[in-house]
Amino acid sequence: MVGEHYRSLLKDVSTLAEVDNYSRWRQQESETLSDLVQNRLEELQNPPNWFTAKQLLCKLEKGCGFGCQLHHIVYCFIVAYSTQRMLVLDYKHWVYGDIWQEIFLPLSDSKTLLKNVSIDQWPGNQDSQIIHLPPVDYVYPKPYFLPQIIPDDLAERLTVLHGDPIVWWIGQIVKYLLRPRKSTINLLNDYAKKLKFQKPIVGVHIRRTDKLISEAQLHTLDEYMVHVENYYKQKELSGEVNQKRIYLATDEPILFDEAKRKYPEYEIVGSDDISKTASLRNRNSKNALQGLIVDIHFLSLSDHLVCTFSSQLCRIAYEIMNSLYPDASTRYTSLDDIYYFGGQNYRLNEAVLSHKTNNQYEIDLQVGDQIYVFGNHWNGYSKGKNLRTKRIGLYPTFKVTIL
Ligand code: GDP
Repeated sequence: MVGEHYRSLLKDVSTLAEVDNYSRWRQQESETLSDLVQNRLEELQNPPNWFTAKQLLCKLEKGCGFGCQLHHIVYCFIVAYSTQRMLVLDYKHWVYGDIWQEIFLPLSDSKTLLKNVSIDQWPGNQDSQIIHLPPVDYVYPKPYFLPQIIPDDLAERLTVLHGDPIVWWIGQIVKYLLRPRKSTINLLNDYAKKLKFQKPIVGVHIRRTDKLISEAQLHTLDEYMVHVENYYKQKELSGEVNQKRIYLATDEPILFDEAKRKYPEYEIVGSDDISKTASLRNRNSKNALQGLIVDIHFLSLSDHLVCTFSSQLCRIAYEIMNSLYPDASTRYTSLDDIYYFGGQNYRLNEAVLSHKTNNQYEIDLQVGDQIYVFGNHWNGYSKGKNLRTKRIGLYPTFKVTIL
């Protein structure tokens, strides 16, 4: 009954968005804002006078997966944008080196690092022509404009348009960074035909293998599928669903067989061949990177995502998704973390309803209180620290909103 009640409320809410006559405005506003940001990034990367342009240098030396590497570049780009410096990447020791450049367009049309110019270390000063920015784990002083900060002049419009503006902002940076080359567009189109990708479809990303050693817990396929089922039950309230589908992406190829065996009423879209290239041994090859791009692409095109946000890969798919829809901030179910950007400042919630504790694990809330969010327990409660009372504990998630 609770589930049905919940779905019925969601249906009412989505109907509100349809009848308010603003859907065309939302679409236009998101396109206009996206064009604005993409043009700004392009101008930043292609200064009219390259010899005098101020540059920010980022080295790509991190030994981690694609999502982690890409988020490192996003962090560099945010700092470059905020300090109005052209971003230059040093690909020399990068695991993806030339492969990356075969798949994506370069950050700038032609020129890159200025030669014979001294390089200052972060934070440098206004006159430094080139500043080297270390990875976010070691940067000092920490740049204040990291997430949750968004560009001041866009903030008002974004908070009207989008449920979680920071995801939109990161999504725009990722959109610029992952501008595909023609051959990559062809590859994605070929896969769309080969896999018969069509909607409705729920993207399911299941991260296993090395991630389970110390970073994340194992979740069974069935745990993901409960949320997929909920999505389709919800959809059925607004009309018949002829065929239920999932796009499955995983680094554990055997899950394709398990999904087909246990969920015969579903069309399982995706490639177990790609999944095989996701094993630790193959990850840095061109084949693996292309497979990964294919998986991220189709996850982001899905109607809804079910995954673990402890995985950077799924967070990237979600960020891209938010550059494709005017507001995709609720099109996900994470089985573990809330959405976050590595190295970000704390995520803040604001109490919109007051709360009196029922036991020693909970904290009081007054309307207007600000709370540092530690995590969502996905059982109706979140954990955080009330900045007014300094107390740490649980509080009902519905009594707060994103600040
Ligand atoms: P995280 O470790 O899950 O936070 O994400 P990363 O992207 O940093 O590292 C995971 C790496 O595992 C990726 O870069 C891929 O090489 C591989 N991988 C994990 N899941 C998938 C998947 O669903 N599809 C593909 N193609 N590769 C995956």
